[in-house]
Formats: sequence, structure tokens, C-alpha cells
Amino acid sequence: MIVSSREQLKKLIPELSGVSGDEREAEFELKQLYAYVLGKSRLGAVELESPMKEEDEARLISLIERRKTHEPLQYILGEWEFMGLTFKVNKDVLIPRQDTETLAEEAERIIGERGYRSLLDICTGSGCIGISLAKRTGIGAILSDISEKALEIAKTNALLNGTDCKPVKSNLFSNIEGRFDVITANPPYIRSAECGSLQGEVLHEPRLALDGGEDGLDFYRRIKDGFSEHLNENGVLLMEIGFDQAESVNELFACCGNVRIIKDICGLDRVIAVDGIKI
Ligand code: GLN
Repeated sequence: MIVSSREQLKKLIPELSGVSGDEREAEFELKQLYAYVLGKSRLGAVELESPMKEEDEARLISLIERRKTHEPLQYILGEWEFMGLTFKVNKDVLIPRQDTETLAEEAERIIGERGYRSLLDICTGSGCIGISLAKRTGIGAILSDISEKALEIAKTNALLNGTDCKPVKSNLFSNIEGRFDVITANPPYIRSAECGSLQGEVLHEPRLALDGGEDGLDFYRRIKDGFSEHLNENGVLLMEIGFDQAESVNELFACCGNVRIIKDICGLDRVIAVDGIKI
């Protein structure tokens, strides 16, 4: 198809509707891909203008074809926004989600309120939690992950956002030294059986970052066993949880300190904060 007019560009929207859900989302995605191809900013209002150069047009069409296979928009663009900052992403890391901003916002609030100085972000992936907190509060942060490839992305993102977060390869706490005021984590928490039946875009994301074992709680158990050795007195542990895991995770951490559950903007249980920890 030759995309020589604005009208023809708009005809590409229905092509995307199947994967993106509805027309509005499809138009948004088309504009994101269009801006990406032309090297324009994707942020703010993007207007479709034509004619396009033939090679740009061919690229746009090929990206749409990729998107039609349910490859996530964020992996195609190679970057995504989180807490107002831009992060590089690829198939080695989970795509930063709006749900996770609930955790970052709560951590930011507590860091400001209590004047915390040091943060450990485990299962960091793209680094979006630790880096956005370092950038927005000035806290010193260590980013850790078991995946070397994820840590490479986190390292790039730390530099890109002008922070000096330190990457450490570690299987949860295995390689971590010292204590911190805040520990944050968005660990894998999907039940293994559900991982097998994930569909669409999530299938492109790293299973390592999603699979939380048989009941989805493996990582919470392991974090429970290890975190108190790495948390300062009066520190806080903040973790993302699945919408149906509040009760079980609460039960698990109840003996460690005061547990608070925080809901996301959809009103679903999303974050657990463990405070007043008895070390
Ligand atoms: N929220 C993600 C999802 O539902 C899961 C993230 C995780 O396991 N930490 O796909």
C-alpha cells in the first residue's frame, strides 16, 4: 500500500485494531510507530502527516506487520516511559507497567517523608523502579538482577537517565553486601501453570521475570528469608504483588513487622509495604 495521504495513513488504523483492542488504542499505536519511524518525539500529541518518503512508509508497514504478530509495541519501539522517564526495553526485561508506578510512588513518598538515603532494588529488570527513585529523590541505589542481560539494560538506563545507580548481578540477596533503608522488588509472581497459558503480548516477555513457582509465591518466601539481613533498622520493604495475593503475602510477612497493602489506580491490591521490622 502506498501511504501518500493522511487519509491513507488513517486507513492503517483498522490493521492494528485486532491487536491493540480498539480503534482509539490502534490510533495511538499507529502514531507511536509513525513518530518512531520519522524520528519524532512520541510524547505529547503526534499528528499523522503525509506524504511520507517511500522508505519510511515501507518501514512503518513492516513495523505494523510485526505488531500484528502481538510483538509488544514497547519492544518494537525499544523504549517506554515510567514515572515520567524513558527506559530502554527489549525482550530480556519486563515492560515497565503503570501498575508498578503504584510501588514507585509509594516508595518515593516514604523516602521523602523519612529522608532515607539508600535503596536496594532487587529483580530490577529494566531498572525502572530503582532508577526512577534515584532520579526523583536523589537516593543512592543498587540495582540487582540474576540476569546478566537485564543488568546490561538497567546499566544503560541508569546512564541514560543521568543516575549513578550501581548494578550488581545477584540471585536475590546472594551477592548483596550491607544494609539499606529501602528494599524494593517487583519479583516474578505469576503461577507456573498460568505462565503456560499466557497469551498475546506477555508471551514475548521473559518467563524468568514472570514465573513465581507453583503458587506464584516462591520469591516472596525467599525474600522473607533474606531481607532482614539487608535492611536498616526502621527501614521498609516494598514489593509488588499480584491482585489476588494480598492475603497470602500478608500472612507470610505478618511476623516480620507492620504490613500495609496499597491498591493500584484500578483499585486492585498491588503493593505490600513491611515496616517496623524486628531485626
Ligand atoms: N504484572 C505482570 C503481569 O501480570 C507480572 C509481573 C511480575 O510477575 N512481576 O503480566
